[in-house]
Amino acid sequence: MGVLPDDPFPSDTDMVRAAIDAAAAAGERDIPVGAVVFDSAGRELARAANAREALGDPTAHAEILALRRAAAVHGDGWRLEGATLAVTLEPCTMCAGALVLARVGRLIFGAWEPKTGAVGSLWDVVRDRRLNHRPQVRGGVLADDCAALLDGFFRAQR
Ligand SMILES: [Zn+2]
Repeated sequence: MGVLPDDPFPSDTDMVRAAIDAAAAAGERDIPVGAVVFDSAGRELARAANAREALGDPTAHAEILALRRAAAVHGDGWRLEGATLAVTLEPCTMCAGALVLARVGRLIFGAWEPKTGAVGSLWDVVRDRRLNHRPQVRGGVLADDCAALLDGFFRAQR
């Protein structure tokens, strides 16, 4: 998907579906959240799953890992201008801050996270007018599928 130049530009649903696929790489102790970064032509730059437990790293959320990998291959230093980040769950404050700082052009996410969400639920970091970069946002894409991933994980924990 989106790898060859003549491929059609992936839809928002395609992008979130890719993030759902990415979540499958989470270790069995890690909450299955997946993130994928696409460049302005819709080509996949990088993907990652949450690896906070696997890496013993409080910052190893899927979005952070995907942004780091995407910047490493994109070729414009730390800037990801025009890129789209797709993630299965509404980002937290850390990840929302990171994607603003990375100059990501667009954020698409699946499930809402009423307890920690920073893209409209508890805070709205990415559309704060005091920041000089504000990505476009679309939430709730394939929300049920994304929430089902989490429900399955937490059910198995009990
Ligand atoms: Zn996060």
